[in-house]
Amino acid sequence: MHENSRQMEKGGLTVLNPEDDFRFQCHQNLECFTRCCRDITIFLTPYDILRMKNRLGISSENFLAAHTATMIGSAGLPVKVLKMQADSEKNCPFVTARGCTIYPDRPWACRIYPLQPESTKITQKTGKEYYSIMDVPFCLGLKSDRVSTVAGWIEKQGIPIYREMEAAFKKITMNEVLSNKEITNNEIQQMYYMACYDLDRFRRFVMESTFLKRFEVEPDVVEKIKHNDVELYHFAMRWLEYGLLGQGVLKVKPEIIKAKKEASENQ
Ligand code: SF4
Ligand code: SF4
Repeated sequence: MHENSRQMEKGGLTVLNPEDDFRFQCHQNLECFTRCCRDITIFLTPYDILRMKNRLGISSENFLAAHTATMIGSAGLPVKVLKMQADSEKNCPFVTARGCTIYPDRPWACRIYPLQPESTKITQKTGKEYYSIMDVPFCLGLKSDRVSTVAGWIEKQGIPIYREMEAAFKKITMNEVLSNKEITNNEIQQMYYMACYDLDRFRRFVMESTFLKRFEVEPDVVEKIKHNDVELYHFAMRWLEYGLLGQGVLKVKPEIIKAKKEASENQ
C-alpha cells in the first residue's frame, strides 16, 4: 500500500476510500495469467447480460441458455450466474490462453477486481463508498509495484456506466416493498426474469402483444425501444416499477379501464 494512503483497518480488513491507493497490475507475462478465470462464481447483472450478448452477437435467449445458470435470490427473485465450462478446470467460456475474448464487455465483477465494494448499514447511511482489496493468494498482480487510486481504477475499468445502469435495477431490488417479502408466484418471477435478463423477448412482448394497446407509452419511447437495448432496459425497469412495486410510472389507457369497468358491471 502507498504510504500516503488514508486506509482504515477494520477487523483485519483494509478499507479504502475512493482517494486511497493500492498496488496491482495484471498482464499476460504473469505465471497466474487467466488463473482467475476458472472455477469462479460470477453474478451477472442485467446490464452485464445486455453487454455480453451484444458483444457475442446473439439473442438474450441464446445467451441465457448457453452461458448462465439461475439461482433464486432474496425476495424469491431469480439471479443469474455465469456458467463455467464442464472441463476439469471449470474454465470461463470466454477465456483463452491470450486472455478474455469479450474483454471490452466483460462483466462488472471482472472489471472491478481486485477491488471489492464494502457495503454495510453504516456505509449506506453515510452514502460513502468504501472498498477492500480481495485476498487472492495466487494473484501475482497484487504483488506489483504499480499504484492506482480506487477512483482512478473505477474510471479506467469503465465502471461508471455499470453503476448508472445498476442504480435503475437497485431501485427495484432494494425497494422496501420487496424487503421482508418472498415472491413465490411463478408468473411474477417470469415477468421479472424476462424484463431483467431476457431483453430480446421483452422487446417482442412489448411490440408484438397487446401491450401498446393497453398502456400509454410515449411515441418517442416506442421508437427508441425498437432498436436500442439501453432504452429498452430502462423501459423494462419502468415496467417492473409499475408491475412489481405498484408505482404509477406507466398508465393504462382510459378505454381499457372503461372496458374493464363495464365488463365487471355486466358480470
Ligand atoms: S494477476 Fe491476478 S487478475 Fe491478473 S491474471 Fe493473474 S490472477 Fe488474474
Ligand atoms: S468474462 Fe473474461 S475476465 Fe471474466 S472470468 Fe471470463 S474470461 Fe475472465
